[in-house]
Amino acid sequence: MQRLTTLVMYSGGLDSTAMLVRLLRETTDELRVHHIRMVNREGRADAEQAAVDSILAWCHGHYRPFRYSESGLDFSALQAIPIDYVSVAFVACQVAIDTPGCTRIAVGTLARDLDEIKRSVTVAQRKVFGAMYECYRARKLGEPVVDWIYPVYALTKPQIASLLEPEVRRLTWSCRRPVQTPAGFRECGTCKPCRARADISAALNTTF
Ligand SMILES: [Zn+2]
Repeated sequence: MQRLTTLVMYSGGLDSTAMLVRLLRETTDELRVHHIRMVNREGRADAEQAAVDSILAWCHGHYRPFRYSESGLDFSALQAIPIDYVSVAFVACQVAIDTPGCTRIAVGTLARDLDEIKRSVTVAQRKVFGAMYECYRARKLGEPVVDWIYPVYALTKPQIASLLEPEVRRLTWSCRRPVQTPAGFRECGTCKPCRARADISAALNTTF
């Protein structure tokens, strides 16, 4: 059977790390892992980058080889915070075209994170991607069909956390508004992902 080639959109957070580990462990797909440095006025890019570097080094040492690349979107001059899923769709299209044989795009979206209104996010994201991808197909570039896959979609946060070895779990970065200290970055403790993390720690009876 021919090996599938999957583009993994990777943020360095808990959900996307669980997704990456699942794909590395449970599939034989050829993986291209891509991280977007999302620079905005929340200032999370450097903290995320540090997490990405250390987690990917760990994965290289413990699992199997994969191709890695990154790109940056700098919106630090804007007052508004751009919507992540739109940026991910935009970059996924460019990177899919740059990945020979790419027929799948994996994202770490969780059903539990999405309320009824936001549930349409996955549909909207594929729509943005589809419109862009058509422009490339018109030039005969890319594979005819690209599927979006959601390897951790059905999992709860504690299930996600349990998928990861404690040492990897500790390396993930979720906070959207990191506080810079002389010793490095510290979580703000109040943004939504920070609060979710505190709930998981309580559920698993552990701190990370
Ligand atoms: Zn936070």
